[in-house]
Amino acid sequence: MAYKHVMAAVDLSDEAGQVLKEAQRVAEDHGAKLSLITVVKPLTQVYGGLDMAAYTQASVNFEREAQNQAQEHLKSVGAGIGVAAEDTHAAIGAPAPQIVDTAKDLGVDLIVVGSHGKHGLGLLLGSTANGVLHHAECDVLTIRIKD
Ligand code: AMP
Repeated sequence: MAYKHVMAAVDLSDEAGQVLKEAQRVAEDHGAKLSLITVVKPLTQVYGGLDMAAYTQASVNFEREAQNQAQEHLKSVGAGIGVAAEDTHAAIGAPAPQIVDTAKDLGVDLIVVGSHGKHGLGLLLGSTANGVLHHAECDVLTIRIKD
């Protein structure tokens, strides 16, 4: 089967290059469009357990700024490998559900993820990769990250 739309999920860590390279290769082999996504975690998720009520506005501003920075970073990563700015997506939320939902919205037929990111060293499969594999409606290619 030839894929038409490949989406690489990258967490902007050093390991992201391995995921990008493989996604690019598969997209080229299949003559498919390549999109990129990165997900910024909300502060409430990063600092779970804290009462964030008093900080709501500050955290909304912080998240918007983090999303803008992630978007700009992803655009420049995309520009370096021939992916148009409009095909780069920076979302806010829990990474796996955001990746799965965006893939559905964009009609992606192959999601490429790393076996683990910066948080999952030592794990066979990180929690994001695991969540995407469980919930995606399309195929998922997991790249074994070499440390
Ligand atoms: P993890 O499950 O965090 O160990 O990461 C496994 C893989 O999931 C990474 O190599 C990325 O491909 C993807 N991933 C993890 N976190 C994110 C994120 N915040 N945004 C996009 N992709 C992510």
